[in-house]
Amino acid sequence: MAEKSKGTTEENCKEQTEAMASAAYDVEAKLLEFQEDFISELHAASTLMSNLQTEVHILSKRTEEIRANQEKLARKVKALNRKMNIINKRMNTSSNKETLPSQMQVDLMSNTWDTLHTLEVHEFLCKTTGQMDVQCVQDCPHIIGHHEQQISEGGESDLHQHLADCKKNPGHTNFIPVDTFSVQHLPERHQDIELYTFIKAAADLTVKISVTMTSPRRPDFWPNTNIPYFLYSMKGSQHLRTGSGVVIDVFKWTTGACKCHKCQHSDKRNIDCWKIQVNTAANLVFDDIEARNTYITLFYDTEDSSNVVQLSAVEDFNKDIPRDVCRLDFVTCDRNLAAKLDLSLKEYYVCYNKATERYRATRDEDKVMFHVSHPHGCCKRISVGQWKDKIIFRNSFNRFTYSVATCPGCSGASVYFLGNGWHSHCGVLNCGLGYSSA
Ligand SMILES: [Zn+2]
Ligand SMILES: [Zn+2]
Repeated sequence: MAEKSKGTTEENCKEQTEAMASAAYDVEAKLLEFQEDFISELHAASTLMSNLQTEVHILSKRTEEIRANQEKLARKVKALNRKMNIINKRMNTSSNKETLPSQMQVDLMSNTWDTLHTLEVHEFLCKTTGQMDVQCVQDCPHIIGHHEQQISEGGESDLHQHLADCKKNPGHTNFIPVDTFSVQHLPERHQDIELYTFIKAAADLTVKISVTMTSPRRPDFWPNTNIPYFLYSMKGSQHLRTGSGVVIDVFKWTTGACKCHKCQHSDKRNIDCWKIQVNTAANLVFDDIEARNTYITLFYDTEDSSNVVQLSAVEDFNKDIPRDVCRLDFVTCDRNLAAKLDLSLKEYYVCYNKATERYRATRDEDKVMFHVSHPHGCCKRISVGQWKDKIIFRNSFNRFTYSVATCPGCSGASVYFLGNGWHSHCGVLNCGLGYSSA
């Protein structure tokens, strides 16, 4: 009985052990299964995390882009507002016919300045606010420079004192009197008789311009800006202003009797008369009021020159304010004067065409330039040197800047850029460089 009971106990133990082993196996299997699931879910979580990070990165990038676009839009809105202000001001100006005479409005407004924004010389750009560090809007660029007219309250008799008192070019050593000008005054690489002859021919046609009235029709400001217009503060003044110019044409004029000064004070006016066309700067002669109060002095080569001729009867007047050029047509019945100028013009154009052809290929390397002027309203002088920048204006005209000596009285003087044509001297920029008409 005891034997049988012992055997049964052993079997029970064995069964229990087997059952426990089986259970342990199951647990282990389940643990493995759980472990695998856990690793798999961990992996999925890590992938999800990585995807989320990628999406966060993309989102933050998009946010940055949106912010940049918003800033860009804000700038555009600002620019549009400025343009709207200008248009509004323009509309106000147009409706205020008492402030600006309509002809002047046409003159000033019709000339758009829309391509000057391509300039790299910042001083050429208008500052709408008047602050130097604020750049102008694209369609409103004006010149900041100053004119170079000699203003003489004491008239012609004070001009030599102005020359002697000059602070800009004391002694005027870089202005060569025409009677002592020689080949040696030319830049070393260009000392030849052909260039010398061209400069002398240009000098023969150079005239002094005297204006004895500053038009009340000059505007206070350049259109749509608060930049003072040249000589706005002198409106109505009869102080003498002098500049320079050049004879560009002479031709027989057949429409009626001569209107020269002499004929106007005579009972018998000459039938034979000629028109003498003179080019100068619009900052010097602004409108027909000023043109009627203008006289020119020709052949004023030396202080004691006996050939000096004065003309005062202006028959016609044309101007281009943005380019700062104007043309005055004088009338004369002096046959000898007309013949002399005609000959000088022929000689000049031969020289001019030769020089243009000769310097065309190297014009932007040599950069040779000269001008002939009447500094301080005194006798004719020649200055030679190099230009600095060539700036495109209205897509077809150029302006030039230069450090060649200029003084009050040089406004309107012809400046010759070899191979690049000729322009008028306008004035000086704040940086001290001279600048030409367009
Ligand atoms: Zn001077
Ligand atoms: Zn006459």
